[in-house]
Amino acid sequence: MNKENQGKFYITTAIDYVNGPPHIGHAIQKVWADAVARYHRLKGDEVWFLTGTDEHGVNVARTAEMLGKTPQELADENAVKFRGMRNALNLSWDDFIRTTDCERHWPGAVLMWQKLVEAGDIYKKKYRGLYCAGHEAFITQKDLADGKCFLHGKEPEAIDEENYFFRLSKYSQKIKLAIKSDALKIVPVSRKNEILNFIDEGLEDVSFSRPTKDLSWGIPVPGDSEHTMYVWCDALINYLSAIGYGLNEEWQKWWPADLHVLGKDNLRFHAAIWPGMLFAAGLELPKVLFVHGFVTAEGQKMSKTIGNVIDPFEITRKYGTDAVRYYLFREIPSYDDGDFSIKKFEERYNGDLANGLGNFVSRVFSLAEKIYSIDISKTEKEILEKIKEIEIQVSAKFEEYKFHEAAGIIWELISYGDRYVNEKKPWAIIDEKEKTKILTNLVVIVESVAELIWPFIPETSEKIQKSLSKNANFIKIKKRGILFPRLNK
Ligand SMILES: [Zn+2]
Repeated sequence: MNKENQGKFYITTAIDYVNGPPHIGHAIQKVWADAVARYHRLKGDEVWFLTGTDEHGVNVARTAEMLGKTPQELADENAVKFRGMRNALNLSWDDFIRTTDCERHWPGAVLMWQKLVEAGDIYKKKYRGLYCAGHEAFITQKDLADGKCFLHGKEPEAIDEENYFFRLSKYSQKIKLAIKSDALKIVPVSRKNEILNFIDEGLEDVSFSRPTKDLSWGIPVPGDSEHTMYVWCDALINYLSAIGYGLNEEWQKWWPADLHVLGKDNLRFHAAIWPGMLFAAGLELPKVLFVHGFVTAEGQKMSKTIGNVIDPFEITRKYGTDAVRYYLFREIPSYDDGDFSIKKFEERYNGDLANGLGNFVSRVFSLAEKIYSIDISKTEKEILEKIKEIEIQVSAKFEEYKFHEAAGIIWELISYGDRYVNEKKPWAIIDEKEKTKILTNLVVIVESVAELIWPFIPETSEKIQKSLSKNANFIKIKKRGILFPRLNK
């Protein structure tokens, strides 16, 4: 791995809404962000990886009421499940922030509100708007199809009230320029164009509060307890509050964020409202937004009614963490929507993991474990060049967040190794020197594969690396158990 350009790397995920437990759609975003965080750690960067939960708002309050719980009880219950993804999916985040944390999170939200007030960008006005409970936000005519929210399929409520507004319109031009020039880079380009089209017509000011009588489950507006902040000046602030904004100066070490990972439903908030707020508060914009699509299950949208919601805990218990992680990287295209299908999952498992990676490593280890010590400084140039070429390609795909393609390239190296064993037939060679030369090449390929797969399937990578007991330039193989036992129907 190329260890140039070491620096800090601050990466965040969207924070998940706690009115229900996590499903595979939540899991994939965390798994992808985890791979990017691990990739940067391999490069030698100082990484800070943040995730968390968005816990305020009408939806949590309503769901809690329906379940006969307090909003705090419901939030606590689901926050534990979201946090539980760390173990189930082997996620390496450094911090988990909850927006109900009034010691860590609220001071940052309050400070941001004050900065917006100081900038003259918060004002009060009577407002008539369409409120989508699914969005947890006011939406506009542009968000409707047949009178219903195009994302949530529900009719919005018409609401008449006095709210505080943020003067987002003032920043339309600045935001557009930042996105156009890639000062705020949006990946993929299709999402960049989508948001530029949206901003083209100019941005409207946005409601930043709700009357406390209608929404009390949130952070009170500073100096006006009759109003509660909602979503924007609450949830988005987590990226700053978690690193100390409003509490100490620590945040200056990490801000601006190097990468926000988010779903396509979050694009407008992160690429319009968030930069507007940051401009108003005199803060730098995040460097990159990586915007991914949605995951369906067996070709259909996941829903409780259909009963096809894929539970990340159940699936990792059944197949193992790395098998699930691998599928999410390999089979779901990171720029588009993807599908989780058990049939495809099992095909990938048997094809790529059991027969591909698992079988290759096991073959090489069986042949090479008899050798007392392998001197890897004797690796042939041709092999080293092939490995270098693969490493460069994988890095390039990582920089573009094209995980499925990066994984595909690593598996090309496995196929290359497989072909090399089949051609050279080391088991049939009598000349010990010649045989050792071939096995040395193979062990070095295995070592490289083990390093390259670490961001994707870290547990498997570590297992392989433990089998390659290394001392300076010498490797002695200690074969362990099977990596991926075949699934039998
Ligand atoms: Zn909606």
